[in-house]
Amino acid sequence: MTATDRYDLVIIGSGPGGYVAAVRAAQLGLKTACIEKSPRLGGVCLNVGCIPSKALLDSSEYYHLARDHFAEHGIKTGRLSLDLAALLSRKDQVVSDLTDSVRNLLKGNRVEIIHGKARLTGNQQVEVAAEKQNKRILQGNSILLATGSEPVEVPGMRFDGERIVSSTEALAFDTVPKQLGIVGGGYIGLELGSVWMRLGARVTVIEMLPKIATTLDGQVGRALDRILKKQGLEFQLNTRVISAKPTAKKVKVTLQKDGQQTGMTFDRLLVAVGRKPLTQGLGIQDVGIETDPKTGHIIVSPDYETSVKGIYAIGDLTYGPMLAHKASAEGIAAVEGIAGLAGEVNYDAIPSVIYTWPEVASVGLTEEAVKEKGVPYCVGSYPFSGTGRARCMGEKEGFVKLITHGKTDRIMGVHIIGPRAADMIAECVLALEFGASSEDIARTVHGHPTFAEALQEAAMAVRKCSIYAS
Ligand code: FAD
Ligand code: NAD
Repeated sequence: MTATDRYDLVIIGSGPGGYVAAVRAAQLGLKTACIEKSPRLGGVCLNVGCIPSKALLDSSEYYHLARDHFAEHGIKTGRLSLDLAALLSRKDQVVSDLTDSVRNLLKGNRVEIIHGKARLTGNQQVEVAAEKQNKRILQGNSILLATGSEPVEVPGMRFDGERIVSSTEALAFDTVPKQLGIVGGGYIGLELGSVWMRLGARVTVIEMLPKIATTLDGQVGRALDRILKKQGLEFQLNTRVISAKPTAKKVKVTLQKDGQQTGMTFDRLLVAVGRKPLTQGLGIQDVGIETDPKTGHIIVSPDYETSVKGIYAIGDLTYGPMLAHKASAEGIAAVEGIAGLAGEVNYDAIPSVIYTWPEVASVGLTEEAVKEKGVPYCVGSYPFSGTGRARCMGEKEGFVKLITHGKTDRIMGVHIIGPRAADMIAECVLALEFGASSEDIARTVHGHPTFAEALQEAAMAVRKCSIYAS
């Protein structure tokens, strides 16, 4: 073995967990290698997740605005047409620009990028296999696993990449399906359902539970259900797909609801029923790393160390929300711990966003969770229709809901459905981090006219002193 094959830290996976950890490790002076099996860096998030889906959401939202809303602003667009190939190629360009940036970032920080499939062969040893190249053995004082997740496949609905697809293929349909079926009314179902609906598809979301987006605060979830239905999404709730049979050009689906079976036919069926940790071929069993037998998550200590000393795991591989910012935060904390610093992640203040329009963003506890805990609480809410900025934009749907402790006024949760909710939630995350009260937000001067004024009014409403509420 040559000296160049020895590192302080070997990271497997270059998603938002792995590449962010690699940069932080390099900043802390650790000699770091980052192994990636795909030709492009950035993981699911940059290549087939957050970024391409948001590029499509943004483009399709512009199309929808031009088609359905410009006229109310006095803008006449004439005959509008959609160039789907151009829309998809713009998305691909955004992805390729960002993945190139990650490569430059790693190179600039002197992280060694190694392409190939990695497998653990010992406590401190990783084997990398790349096509047409000899296997390479790397030695790491520490090893960080960041190999992410993959879509869950449902028996009777196996992915064929053509008619029955995962989110990856649904980011690149070359024509707008006339009828798109989506199994699962979660993040992916609602976001990609919105994309294709805006571009002209008739979209039916089939959800086995009685509501969509089950983790949301109930009031916000009901509002989202109502708004998306008004936009044209169709929901089949309490419904299971029994089987899906692809034919040359269609896919026939058998549904079960209230004991009754019915059939539906779609051009494509997107199955988005969750994701599972990706550990296949990683050799974790060979070195004795413990996983949750039910979910496949790698079990880690608060320092992200697995059951094997010196091997760490972060991101979608471990418990918690499968979100890019959670993976990055864990990557930084794990590496700081390895370097002898005190890194930590506050799991009570991780924001989540569904990028439908209007957006839905939340942090902290829902009203249902607070009730279940039996904690005394107050709620303050305020509609966007009451803010000048939302009226100027013609965006009057939605509201801000703030939940505080009934005795201390400390903020326990904030839930926003409305324009720019994804950006507004940052102030609420900070409020939770600082242990702020509703009064702190109410007395903070917010710019006018902004969407954030709805947050200030909701905070005032907790103590029944909202200025604009009638
Ligand atoms: P990943 O990003 O999955 O990266 C893991 C990397 O490891 C991959 O590049 C993989 O090729 C590599 N790898 C795997 N095995 C090996 C091996 N044996 N050897 C070498 N390399 C290997 N989250 C958000 O926060 N916001 C969003 O808007 C959002 N949108 C999403 C949209 C979609 C359609 C999807 C599918 C997901 C979305 N997510 C979003 C979730 C987000 O993408 C993940 O939570 C995040 O990518 C997890 O990061 P990670 O670093 O743990 O793993
Ligand atoms: P999800 O967990 O968000 O939603 C899955 C939905 O499918 C649930 O509502 C569930 O009840 C339903 N379901 C499960 N089995 C079913 C069945 N057999 N028939 C009908 N419905 C069924 O999962 P997802 O939408 O696949 O997304 C995976 C993960 O990716 C998310 O949990 C999230 O962590 C991440 N993601 C995040 C974003 C974002 O942050 N904006 C966007 C996309 C994906």
